[in-house]
Amino acid sequence: MLDKLRTLVLTDDPNQALRMSRHLAALTATFFFTLASAYFSYSNMLKTTEVQLLDLNLIFWAGLLSITFLIRSGINQNFPDPSLTMVQMVWCALYILVLIYLLNEWRSIAIMPYFGLLSFGFFRLNFKQFLGITFFSVIGYLVVTIYIYVNEPLRIHVDKELVQTFCFAMTCLVMVYTGSAVNKLRTGFRERNEQLAEALRLNTRLATTDDLTGLYTRRYLMNMLANQKALSEREDGDFVILFADLDHFKHINDSFGHYIGDVVLKDFADILRMSIREIDYASRFGGEEFVVLLVKTEIEQAQKVAERIRHGLEHFNFSDVAPGLHVTVSIGIANYNQYKSIQETLMTADNRMYKAKEQGRNRIVSE
Ligand code: GH3
Ligand code: MG
Ligand code: MG
Repeated sequence: MLDKLRTLVLTDDPNQALRMSRHLAALTATFFFTLASAYFSYSNMLKTTEVQLLDLNLIFWAGLLSITFLIRSGINQNFPDPSLTMVQMVWCALYILVLIYLLNEWRSIAIMPYFGLLSFGFFRLNFKQFLGITFFSVIGYLVVTIYIYVNEPLRIHVDKELVQTFCFAMTCLVMVYTGSAVNKLRTGFRERNEQLAEALRLNTRLATTDDLTGLYTRRYLMNMLANQKALSEREDGDFVILFADLDHFKHINDSFGHYIGDVVLKDFADILRMSIREIDYASRFGGEEFVVLLVKTEIEQAQKVAERIRHGLEHFNFSDVAPGLHVTVSIGIANYNQYKSIQETLMTADNRMYKAKEQGRNRIVSE
C-alpha cells in the first residue's frame, strides 16, 4: 500500500524518484514560508493588503506546481538539467525577494530562508552555478533595498541596513566555500563510483569469459549446471554434457608452435559456438578441454550436435595459418537424468571421452 503510494508520487525510475523527493522537500519548506507570510500579513508586518499577498502566493505556487508537473510527467528529462534545480532556486529566490520588499522592519527575517534555499544547491549545482545563485540572492537583496531607499526612504535605516547586508553577504560567501567543498566531494565520489563500476564489469567479464577463446569459464559453466539441475528437477526435463578434448594437442604445439596451438583453440571455440543453439553453453574447461552444456536435450540430439562438432574440426581448413595441420577431437557424452548428479554426469562424460581416445581418437562415445 505504502509502496504503491510511493510509486504513484515518486514514479518507478530511481533518478526521477530522487528528483521528485527533493522537489517535494523544497515544496514543504516553501509551504512553511508561505504560512509565515500569512502570519506577517496577519500581524501587519507587510506593506500590503491581504488580497495582494494572496495574489503573490497564488502566482508563486502556480509556478512551483508547474515544476511539480514537469518532473512528475517526465517532461523535465528533455532539459539539460532534468532536476530543474536552478529554475526552482531562482523562482524561490524571487519569492523571497518580493517578500523582503513587502516586509517592513522585520525584513531581516526573510534572509533566513535564503540559506535553506542555497543548501539545496549542494546536491546538484557546480561551483559556477552555486556562485551564480548566491550572487543573484545578494545582488537581488541589494537592489530591493536600494529600490525601497529611493522610493520610500522612511522605510530604511541606512546604518542597520548596511550592517545587515554586510553580514548577509559574508554568510553567503561562507556558503559558497562550504558549497564548493561539498561539490568537490560529490565529484570525487562520482568518479570513484564510476571506476568501481568499471572494475566490477571487468571482474565479472574475467570471471565468466575465457580470455583466449571468448567461451564461458569453468566457474560460470558450473553455475549454469547447478541452474539446469534445479530447473530439470522442477520441470522433469533433461540436459546433456559433452566433454571434448583435442587429440594430440601437445604434438600440435611441438610441431607448429604455441601460437598456432592458440589459433587452433580459438577456431575450435568458433566451431563449438556455431554448432550449438543460443540457449546452450560452451565453456573452456581448462587447457584444450571443453565442456558443452546442451539444455533441454535428449541424448540422440546431443549425439548429432557432437558429430557436427567432430566433423567440423576434422574438416576445418588450417592451411592459411599452418599448411599440413589437421586437428581432431574426442568427445564423451552423458545425460543428467541417468545419474541425477552433476559431478557424476561430468565424470561419466570425461570417462567416455577417455574411452574415445582409447578407441583411436576422433570419435564420440555416449555409452
Ligand atoms: P590426447 O590426444 O591424449 O588428448 O593428447 P594431448 O597431447 O592433447 O594431451 P595432453 O592433455 O597431455 O596435452 C594437452 C596440451 O595442451 C598440453 C599443453 O601444453 C597444451 N595447452 C594447454 N593449454 C594451452 C594453451 O592455452 N595454448 C596452447 N597453445 N597449448 C595449451
Ligand atoms: Mg587434455
Ligand atoms: Mg588432448
